[in-house]
Amino acid sequence: MTQALTILIALSALALMGSMIILVALLILKAIKSFMKKDTIKLKKPIVISAIIAPCSLFVIIVSMIVGQSTDPTAWCAHEYTVLEQQDANCTNSGYIKKMCSLCNNEITETIEPYHLWIEDSVIEATCTSQKQIKKKCTRCETTEYEKVGDLLNHSWIEDSVIEATCSHPKQLINKCSVCGTTETVEEGSTIPHSFGDWIVSIEPTTEKEGQQTRKCTVCNHSENTALLKKSPISILSRTYDKDFVGGVEWTTEIKNNSNKTIKYITLQWRCYNAVGDPIYDEIDGKNLVGIKITGPLESGETGRYTNASKFYNHSFASSVIVTIKVEFMDGEVINITSDEYTDIIKY
Ligand SMILES: [Zn+2]
Ligand SMILES: [Zn+2]
Ligand SMILES: [Zn+2]
Ligand SMILES: [Zn+2]
Repeated sequence: MTQALTILIALSALALMGSMIILVALLILKAIKSFMKKDTIKLKKPIVISAIIAPCSLFVIIVSMIVGQSTDPTAWCAHEYTVLEQQDANCTNSGYIKKMCSLCNNEITETIEPYHLWIEDSVIEATCTSQKQIKKKCTRCETTEYEKVGDLLNHSWIEDSVIEATCSHPKQLINKCSVCGTTETVEEGSTIPHSFGDWIVSIEPTTEKEGQQTRKCTVCNHSENTALLKKSPISILSRTYDKDFVGGVEWTTEIKNNSNKTIKYITLQWRCYNAVGDPIYDEIDGKNLVGIKITGPLESGETGRYTNASKFYNHSFASSVIVTIKVEFMDGEVINITSDEYTDIIKY
């Protein structure tokens, strides 16, 4: 009943406010209309309706409040309580306060939770390992309780020892608290370089696979590895040249097959230079690059000697530098041999 009345009052209040706002707005609009001398908008009806709704809503509110107060005076009372009876709580049992409203006679009881009457008994000051502790004691029942407050004190560091830097750790300062004995290690600077021994071949390279070399620190045993290049499938064991009286040069090259396969062809190309290192050119065809395509078979492990068929003509020839080595095996594999990928290419 009380809830229904409360909702009715709220709705009526909304209707009252709404109709008042609309009414004021319509009146302003009417004033503007008569000022502009326009008679096209009809305002009379809405003004009358909102002027009726407003007092009706007010009437409903007043009636609801009167009905509410007469049917349920407690719910509609503004209560003015006075204490009838009171019992205080002690350390273990709760107490209560009984009150009555002087307007509607409504009675209520409030509970008082049990409580101790604490006084500070003693204080243990904070250290670097424990917080400040306050010992409290109840004056009624002698119960004691400790309360921890504040922060720990800082340790009182003193330098205890120093460990010099090695290749595995930086310089270490070991500090000790003069109060509680806690230690801390503070690192300073950086490690010193390892003392490596010689490189030792740990995996021998082959013509098929890279190898590996390893070296170890003599102090901390830290080891590091690097790759070793593959062995070249062929090695050029020697290379000589003959120059005739018209400046014709021919080279003899000694080549060993290091691989375990039979070689079908070997292509060699080289550039020619004079005694001061400038490139020189064939006096007949004008080329600086000379080449030879050797036809095998050259068996695994075998060495062959090869001379280029056509000569290179230039009187000032002094040296040559090989720029291309291409090997084609009987099984069809073709390898361009470069010093980026292979070792043991030139052995003279
Ligand atoms: Zn009351
Ligand atoms: Zn107590
Ligand atoms: Zn300490
Ligand atoms: Zn080391």
